[in-house]
Amino acid sequence: MYLKALELRGFKSFPDKTRLDFQKGVTAVVGPNGSGKSNISDAVRWVLGEMSPKSLRGSKMEDVIFAGTAKRSQTGFCEVSIIIDNSAGELPNDADEVKVTRKFFRSGDSEYRINDKPSRLKDIYELFLNTGIGREGYSVIGQGKIAEVLSQKSDERRHIFEEAAGVSKFRYRKNDAQKKLAETDSNLIRLTDIVSEVSANLAPLEKEAENAKKYLVLAEQKKNIEVSLWLQKLTGASAKTDKLKRQLSEAEENYAKKQHEIELAESALEGIFNKKQFLTNSAENLRREISQLEQEKNRLENLRSISENDISHLNQRKSELE
Ligand code: ATP
Repeated sequence: MYLKALELRGFKSFPDKTRLDFQKGVTAVVGPNGSGKSNISDAVRWVLGEMSPKSLRGSKMEDVIFAGTAKRSQTGFCEVSIIIDNSAGELPNDADEVKVTRKFFRSGDSEYRINDKPSRLKDIYELFLNTGIGREGYSVIGQGKIAEVLSQKSDERRHIFEEAAGVSKFRYRKNDAQKKLAETDSNLIRLTDIVSEVSANLAPLEKEAENAKKYLVLAEQKKNIEVSLWLQKLTGASAKTDKLKRQLSEAEENYAKKQHEIELAESALEGIFNKKQFLTNSAENLRREISQLEQEKNRLENLRSISENDISHLNQRKSELE
């Protein structure tokens, strides 16, 4: 399998985006102590899904993110992509080139992508199963690791050989199936518990169900009685309403009639009032005429007494003259 390139960004001593293109054949990375050579193999192991900070020479996963220097502040995340030639179809992926990316934030969030498509760590693990490149494969061996591998417990050493022999794929599936079986077993136990608990409760529940049925019948009867009671009340109330409506319309009729009579009486009263006014005026005129006539009568009576006086005087004179 041909490893074409490795891209690092914010990973350990690589704060800037760095791309390493590997030519065919053997590539050697050369540099002074502490220049970051092992950080490259750490990046390869990390992008393939390494989860142990210790294997990556750190104490916690955050240690893989560029921690900053005196001149440069730390980055908030790191991202590594590995690009593998798959034209021979060695990886279970249709693409000719497979790019696997892992991103990790200081907040603790992780992202995995296969050919820029969001994926799970499990997908990456399964992609490299039996290729010898997996996170637990033997293809990346750090400084002093060979001695460590040789001194590993037989179990762990067997795991490496199994990975090489292509058995681990089936072991992985077997473990998966066993895990599922165990889960099913514990579900079964839980179900059995529930069934026995439910059976113990069955008798009292039957009694309760009987009571509930009775209750439902009685409740239905109660509802029917209540409904007919309300219907009765409703019928009585509507008869009462009809009667009251009739009385109301009669009263309204009466009221209109009386109103009309009042209007008639009022107009008659107005006529009488006008007539009285007219008669009052006439009486006033007559009174005025009577007083004028009385004045005239007095004047004439005065005139008559003066004339009578004159006559008697003249008669006296006549007698004297005679
Ligand atoms: P040697 O040849 O001694 O093994 P090396 O070339 O393999 O060294 P590495 O061990 O890969 O070097 O890199 C160590 C360097 O990486 C150190 O200078 C260390 O400060 C730096 N380094 C490691 N982790 C980080 C980080 N999170 N942020 C910044 N720098 C880091």
